[in-house]
Parts: sequence; C-alpha cells; structure tokens
Amino acid sequence: MKRTETTAGYDQKQIAIATICSHSSLQIFHGARQEGFRTIGICTRERQKLYESFPLASPDRLIVVDRFADLLDEEVQEDLLRENAVVIPHGSFVEYVGADEILARFRVPTYGNKQVLPWESDRRKQHQWLIAAGIAVPRIYPTLDAIDGPVIAKLSGAKGGRGLVHARNRQEIAKRIDPALIDQYTLQEYIFGTRYYPHYFYSQIRSRLEMLGIDRRDETNIDEIYRYHDLIDRPPTYVVVGNRPVVVRESLLGGLFDYGEGLVAASQRLFAPGLFGPFCLETVCREDMKFVAFEVSARIVAGTNLYPVGSPYSCYYFNGEMSTGRRIAIEIREAVEQGRLEEIVT
Ligand code: ATP
Repeated sequence: MKRTETTAGYDQKQIAIATICSHSSLQIFHGARQEGFRTIGICTRERQKLYESFPLASPDRLIVVDRFADLLDEEVQEDLLRENAVVIPHGSFVEYVGADEILARFRVPTYGNKQVLPWESDRRKQHQWLIAAGIAVPRIYPTLDAIDGPVIAKLSGAKGGRGLVHARNRQEIAKRIDPALIDQYTLQEYIFGTRYYPHYFYSQIRSRLEMLGIDRRDETNIDEIYRYHDLIDRPPTYVVVGNRPVVVRESLLGGLFDYGEGLVAASQRLFAPGLFGPFCLETVCREDMKFVAFEVSARIVAGTNLYPVGSPYSCYYFNGEMSTGRRIAIEIREAVEQGRLEEIVT
C-alpha cells in the first residue's frame, strides 16, 4: 500500500478543502467557505458550468478532468498536495474512484479513517461490525433453502439501490434471480416498518457524538407503488432519486443515539482509531418500535443535502446555520488550531 503523505509539510494556514463535484459537494464547499477555507472541486467538463453557477457554493478553483477516476493521476495528486488540500470523501468519491484504488494509490491527506473502507464495502464485514455494535440487523439466509419468509436479495457491489429483488418466499425469489449468480447475492430478511436514516458526526477533536439530522430516501418505483399497482404489473425498483426530511418521536431518539455510539465503539475495537467524522445508518422501525439497521455508510451521505442551513437536531448543538459540510470544516479548523490535523486525516 502506498503511504499517504502527511500534512507535516503543509502550510497549515493555507489548507484547502477539496472534493469531487458530485453527491454532497455543494454542501461541503458551502460549509468550508463559511469557515473561511479555500475550496477546490475536481470536476468533469460537462459539469463545469453547473458547479461554477452557485455564487455561495462554487469551489474557488476547479481542476477539470475527463473522468473522476483521473483524481488518481500523479499530476492531479501533486497539484492537490501543492495546494495543501484535505480531501473530503463522499459516496460518489468511493463509487467513481473505487475503494481498492483509493487504498492502494491515493496519497493526498483525506478526512476520516481509510481503514473503514474494507469494513463498509464488504456486506459480510459490515454485518459483523453492526452486530459487534449491538445493533439489531435483518437475518441473513445462507442459502435459498434457508429462506422462511419475505426476502430481499442484494447483488454484491451494487449501489444506490440497484439490483435489488424482493419476494414473498423461497419459491418466488428462486424464480426472480439468476441461479448462476446466486453466490453474488446476499439474501436478507425483508423488514417491514418505516424507514429512518439518521446522520451522525463523531468528533475526534471534541470527543463527542452528534446527531445532525435524519432523512428518508425516495426510491423508484417502490415509494409510490400504491398509486399504480392496479395499473401495471412491474417489479419494484429501489434506485435512489431523492430524499425527504423526517424526525422521530423524541422517545425513540435514544435508541438511534445508542446505535451511533455502539458503531463508533465497535469500530475502535475492530479497526482503531475507528470511525470518525460523518456517518449514517439505514434503519427500519418495526411494529415493535425497534430499529433494525441494514446498512452503514461511513461518510457524508446525500441525505444531509436536505439541511444546508441546519436540521431539527443540529440546532441543539450549534447556534446558527450548521450543515454536515460545515461541521466537517469546523473539525478541520479546530484540528489545525490545536496542531492535531494529522489525527483526523489518513
Ligand atoms: P446504498 O449502498 O447506496 O445505500 P444499496 O444498493 O447497498 O444502496 P441498500 O441501501 O441496502 O442498497 O437498500 C436499498 C433500499 O432497499 C433501502 O433504502 C430500503 O428501501 C430497501 N431495503 C434494503 N434492505 C431492506 C430490508 N432488509 N428490508 C426492507 N427493505 C430493505
């Protein structure tokens, strides 16, 4: 593995915050600018016009590339190092560049712990982490024969809700998925209830967990299937198209907070120094009022884009506007002020 450069050679008064122009980057640039950082966007030509068009969120400088994966080019990496850049990873960053490539070839200081990548990208390891955190999870059926109820089959490597198939039982799922690909599917118990995707932030600098918001995804076409189920007979699809703001009953908040704390504590045991910065759980609240989590995202999630000026929870931690993007910038600023930047980048 190629070693990440340290920030020791950086001019710490001139740190720039950089990310790929996609996913939650407007929020990241906006928040970084609010905290007085210079910002750099890695952008493809066709997106350039859009990312130059937001007076308060456009990056100060664009590095234009043909493909986002060109971020790995030596030239681009050297440029970012000269700029004293700290890169903020988001979902599209991992998707476009690839977890293995980031670990093997990307050496620009990146906010967060890169060791989380193998734990997040492998569904089996992720399941192990959730269990170690004391979080209720759906049952995993090891074989088709083990299925004893409604099931959702997930293709390994698929993202954004692609490649999901659900069925009422073993016989039905066997007809809906290609038997030749059976080894590539995770067969998960289908959980019935209401979805809540809480956004957390664990601060290394302040040693505290914050709950910065909650969203729910809009997914094609499952979310409005009740409107046309008698008109068409089409398989449900779960591809994400947007997000909605939600809050939970205050009496349920403690359960979600405990889950966040459990994830951080387990990560510190499994891959020290563990998970820090923004992260999210995807949960379903069952009829017995228990949250079951089927996924963890170990970085800023697109659902936080709902709250560029703050959420119904962030206002209990901070006066004034506070997005997850700005929260990251504050963490970096405080780390610089305390001479601790090296602790929060890998
Ligand atoms: P991403 O990695 O982008 O979050 P993914 O492709 O890994 O997406 P999941 O997030 O696991 O897919 O699931 C996508 C959607 O499928 C969820 O948002 C939810 O609506 C539904 N879903 C997933 N697992 C379950 C489950 N066990 N029970 C009920 N619904 C589920």
